[in-house]
Amino acid sequence: MDMMWTDFLNSDYHDWKEGKHDEDKLPLPTWQQRFLEQHQLKADVPANEQQLAMLCTLRAQLSKTAAEVATGESLSAKHMQYLNDMLAGVSLQRQLQMDKEQLTLHYVCQQTGWDMVAAEIVADFAATLLHGDARRIRHCDNPDCRWVFYDDTRSRTKRYCDDKLCGNLMKVRRFRARQKNKKS
Ligand SMILES: [Zn+2]
Repeated sequence: MDMMWTDFLNSDYHDWKEGKHDEDKLPLPTWQQRFLEQHQLKADVPANEQQLAMLCTLRAQLSKTAAEVATGESLSAKHMQYLNDMLAGVSLQRQLQMDKEQLTLHYVCQQTGWDMVAAEIVADFAATLLHGDARRIRHCDNPDCRWVFYDDTRSRTKRYCDDKLCGNLMKVRRFRARQKNKKS
């Protein structure tokens, strides 16, 4: 399952087929535009140098934090501080809304821009920690791919970002390795 924060981390793209063509998509205006539209966020495209540096740091930090909590470790004070610093940059307003005839209280952000986007990404990650199970955070088992995803299967045994793509590829690789061993 892809979420806003995993979508963000996966901007650090790895060639899952050959392992030859890795690409950082974060600086690409087309990637930025697609990300904003998909998650209904507003910011200027392209992000300027300073904003891009902030986003790169966020991605690296979030990646470390996700890897840490995925092992079952609780969120360290240092990582929590960083996430809180990112959240502190935006102010939210409380707003009553009617959701399917049910009155709900929402936190609505009035700002736009990359600081707000960063805070939304952190909030989305926080939601996974609060309402999900951090031990379900996975990296694709194809060592060339390393796609980050959330395993929402009942059995908690999802190993690949996509069974049809990386799953099949690894099956073929294992088969070929066995054939080679038989011959030698
Ligand atoms: Zn994969």
